[in-house]
Amino acid sequence: MKRPATGLSTRAIHGTRTPPNVGDPVASPVYQSATFLNPIGSAKNLLYTRYGNNPNQIALGEKLAALEGAEDAVFLASGMGATSLSLMSVLSAGDHLISSNWIYGGTRKLLVEEFQRLGIAVSFADPTRPDGWKRHIKRATRAVFVETPTNPQIRLIDLDPIAELCNSKGLHLLVDSSIASPINFRPLEHGADMVIHSVTKYLNGHADVIAGAVAASRKVISRVRELLKMWGQAIDPHAAWLIERALKTLAVRVPRHNSNAQEFAEWACEHPKISNVVYPGLDSHPDHGLAARILDGYGGLVGVTVKGGTRAANKLLRKLRLATHAPSFGGTETLVSVPRFTSHAGQTKKQLRDAGIPEGYLRISIGIEEVQDIIFDFARALDSV
Ligand SMILES: *Cc1c(COP(=O)(O)O)cnc(C)c1O
Repeated sequence: MKRPATGLSTRAIHGTRTPPNVGDPVASPVYQSATFLNPIGSAKNLLYTRYGNNPNQIALGEKLAALEGAEDAVFLASGMGATSLSLMSVLSAGDHLISSNWIYGGTRKLLVEEFQRLGIAVSFADPTRPDGWKRHIKRATRAVFVETPTNPQIRLIDLDPIAELCNSKGLHLLVDSSIASPINFRPLEHGADMVIHSVTKYLNGHADVIAGAVAASRKVISRVRELLKMWGQAIDPHAAWLIERALKTLAVRVPRHNSNAQEFAEWACEHPKISNVVYPGLDSHPDHGLAARILDGYGGLVGVTVKGGTRAANKLLRKLRLATHAPSFGGTETLVSVPRFTSHAGQTKKQLRDAGIPEGYLRISIGIEEVQDIIFDFARALDSV
């Protein structure tokens, strides 16, 4: 019998591990150690947890690389740590970056405030216009940064034409894929050079760890590791161990998020107090065709606009019992957030409108509870609005 290509679930559980020896533990132990016995008479292969080469950190990197189809991957202490080091691995003072205009608020702050201070220029392109990227290219342009699906509008960006452009101009293409997870979408298969994750979201998936990761070629990851040693965003071994454990169920959790979200979105479409529902799995979604072509699952995020704006939305939030009003997404429990006050806090009315965030807009991270319980919670809360 021919050996089938190893499936994502198998990769998420076993990584690239060789068969254990008799007496070895089946689950990885936590290597809660800052430092390790090193070879005498050599500075080679020093093991030190800040270097990112603690066995828990290494095991995780191998798993993510296997899931994304990358040569290598490295985990960091947060999603922002992963974003900042990835960008710094390809940009220097005097360089220019083209970023999608629709990105996580924290990333925007990094690009606008910190990168400006460091002498790295950034232009923001409208991701809904396929010709938008080309217009921004300058002599100093080195890289393009894209987030897809986007947060919190839940729009999809077609990477293939962007990758083609980057390829022809010698630019690095970095993609924040936190919302999709490798179960639903793998950017490297569409020409991206680097995949960035806020592991805090679906990869860990239990709302109990802050972490980030980057997957790319061996060469790029070794540069990220060099920066990690100097800038110091290493992940703690215990956090790494929790994530390795969580990854074992990634390929079970994500399809459940997908199917719950689809059912919730279809229900929300019929509700008289909801004026608009955004979910890539709905025919009405502006990118549904693209989503159907490139995604293996439509994801766990649903955007709804409540009739009656902010007042009505706040009333709804106060009445929810099961769903929790909290930032972040991708965990087992259903969370609701108001992007105007979380990921996009502090933005002007015009910026919010440009970013496609209307008043009364809620981003719901559908958990893996029974979907009828989630629906009931929202139905009852909407009754009082
Ligand atoms: C949450 C998030 C981040 C930041 O991740 P942290 O783990 O909170 O540092 C970056 N990008 C996206 C798309 C996110 O949702």
